[in-house]
Amino acid sequence: MCACSNRGSSLPKDSQHVKALGDTDKLNDDIRRAVTIGIDECFLTFPKPKRGDWVTLHKEEGQTVQEFERTKRTVPHSSHKTIYIQPIGPFDHPRAPSLEAISEFSSNYFPGCELEILPQIEFSDFSKHLQTGKRINKYSKQPQYLTGFIIGHLKKMKRRERKNDRRELFCIGVTMADIYPEASWNFVYGLASIDDGIGIYSFARLDPAFPDIEAAGPCTDEERTLIFRRAIGVFVHEVIHLFGFEHCIYYSCLMNGAESEEEIDRQPLYLCPVCLRKMYSAMGKEKQHFNVIEMYTKMLDGCKRLNLKDELQWYKNRLNILNRTADN
Ligand SMILES: [Zn+2]
Ligand SMILES: [Zn+2]
Repeated sequence: MCACSNRGSSLPKDSQHVKALGDTDKLNDDIRRAVTIGIDECFLTFPKPKRGDWVTLHKEEGQTVQEFERTKRTVPHSSHKTIYIQPIGPFDHPRAPSLEAISEFSSNYFPGCELEILPQIEFSDFSKHLQTGKRINKYSKQPQYLTGFIIGHLKKMKRRERKNDRRELFCIGVTMADIYPEASWNFVYGLASIDDGIGIYSFARLDPAFPDIEAAGPCTDEERTLIFRRAIGVFVHEVIHLFGFEHCIYYSCLMNGAESEEEIDRQPLYLCPVCLRKMYSAMGKEKQHFNVIEMYTKMLDGCKRLNLKDELQWYKNRLNILNRTADN
């Protein structure tokens, strides 16, 4: 799904799930219950890979909670917790997913942070340099932009236009244009520069009509839901990488790697117990705002509004189990 760094070797056994989660005794009740209760009922272990899936092509070692907590990473705090979404090029095409809806739904994953959509910029605003990073893809016949140039432009904007902005945690460029990371690659969904806290993600290929989006009629309700679900999956997954997460190999999880849209569609929009606990840690002192029951209740409302039926059922079931055990 993304050109992220990968290390390592085989998939985990049960004892590795326990090791990956770590000691939960000192956690507060809310997060401890969320990562220890009803796990077998609600979470599937990592699925047997199909030919061509991410883990058959990329070696993954996994990242335990303890390993995550030891990594050098960006941590939000009271005045430094805004995740900017920077639209590049138009989003007014009738088949484009709504950035407002993506921002609103995604914000539930990051309870200590704020998401804010910046004014749209155009590829024509970029330096002339970018022209050398633009090509026509030989298969799709569509224009494509080189990720390195886009990240370079977003870095310049940060230095020049937001240099006094202490609120900025990350800046995520999003575009309906297709992107590629280097000449030998066909395309990439997204790329993150973790040290700079900057990423660029394309929604172009999430539309089943790609590359004939212009010729396709308006979305059916089913297509709209599918495109939105994929966009949320890619966007949230990539932002979570910026917090320092490696791919998950413990459960079926939003943080599993994905090689294709078909693989994205098989993965859930929720975090497994290991990744949920990492997200709690990732919030640093802002973890005081991290309340799983509240988070899941907001997700449930979002799923209702956006007609995400499978996710709605999952959050309903998960909340029932957590609320039931809380009453006992
Ligand atoms: Zn990834
Ligand atoms: Zn996970």
